[in-house]
Amino acid sequence: MVQNTDNRILIHACCGICSGYPIGLLKEMGYSPVVYFYNPNIDTHEEFNRRLEAQKIVCMYHWVDLVAEDYNHEEYLNYVKGYETEPERGARCDKCIELRLIKTAKKAKELGINKFTTSLVISPHKNYDKISAIGKQAAESILNKTESKKELQSEEPSIGLSPLDLPPSNLPPSNLPLEYLPLDFKKKDGFLKTNKLSKELGLYRQNYCGCEFVKK
Ligand code: SF4
Repeated sequence: MVQNTDNRILIHACCGICSGYPIGLLKEMGYSPVVYFYNPNIDTHEEFNRRLEAQKIVCMYHWVDLVAEDYNHEEYLNYVKGYETEPERGARCDKCIELRLIKTAKKAKELGINKFTTSLVISPHKNYDKISAIGKQAAESILNKTESKKELQSEEPSIGLSPLDLPPSNLPPSNLPLEYLPLDFKKKDGFLKTNKLSKELGLYRQNYCGCEFVKK
């Protein structure tokens, strides 16, 4: 029997601040995190670039691979159409998180990685149970879909940004089923720790979640 030694996990990173501690924790747990920056919810390209630059610093710090999708705010706006006036933490946010986790599940499948998770849960403004349920549904939706390999690939190729200047991985694809790993990064002062690290690294700090609907 061939043993699966692929310990990679795809972590969806909502921003550099939130993902700093989770990436380190995954490494401590024995995983090889690959970071996925897919955040079409961000309202302007300028803001998107600021957050992506912060994400690159975090990935360099942890020496992990980063896969970033191009900015496509239209994709987000189409997905949350009809929910624009919902309050923060309401149905629009559920849709927004669903969009990002379904895409993360697809990317994990495409890269041959069988586990994925998200840094979104570290925020005290986000509901861990809700996000875990959305993550599990995203994994199931990909598992149950009889998609062709072509359909699983993004319409636009992602930008592979590796500190080692290597492709995201040269490991053979995992043959295990895709799984969302529900980890509550808030535990053990996770939010405090991630903020501390972000200050040490001098990261750009945004003062709103991302979309125009909550910008003050
Ligand atoms: S408030 Fe944040 S989570 Fe909610 S829809 Fe806007 S960007 Fe997405």
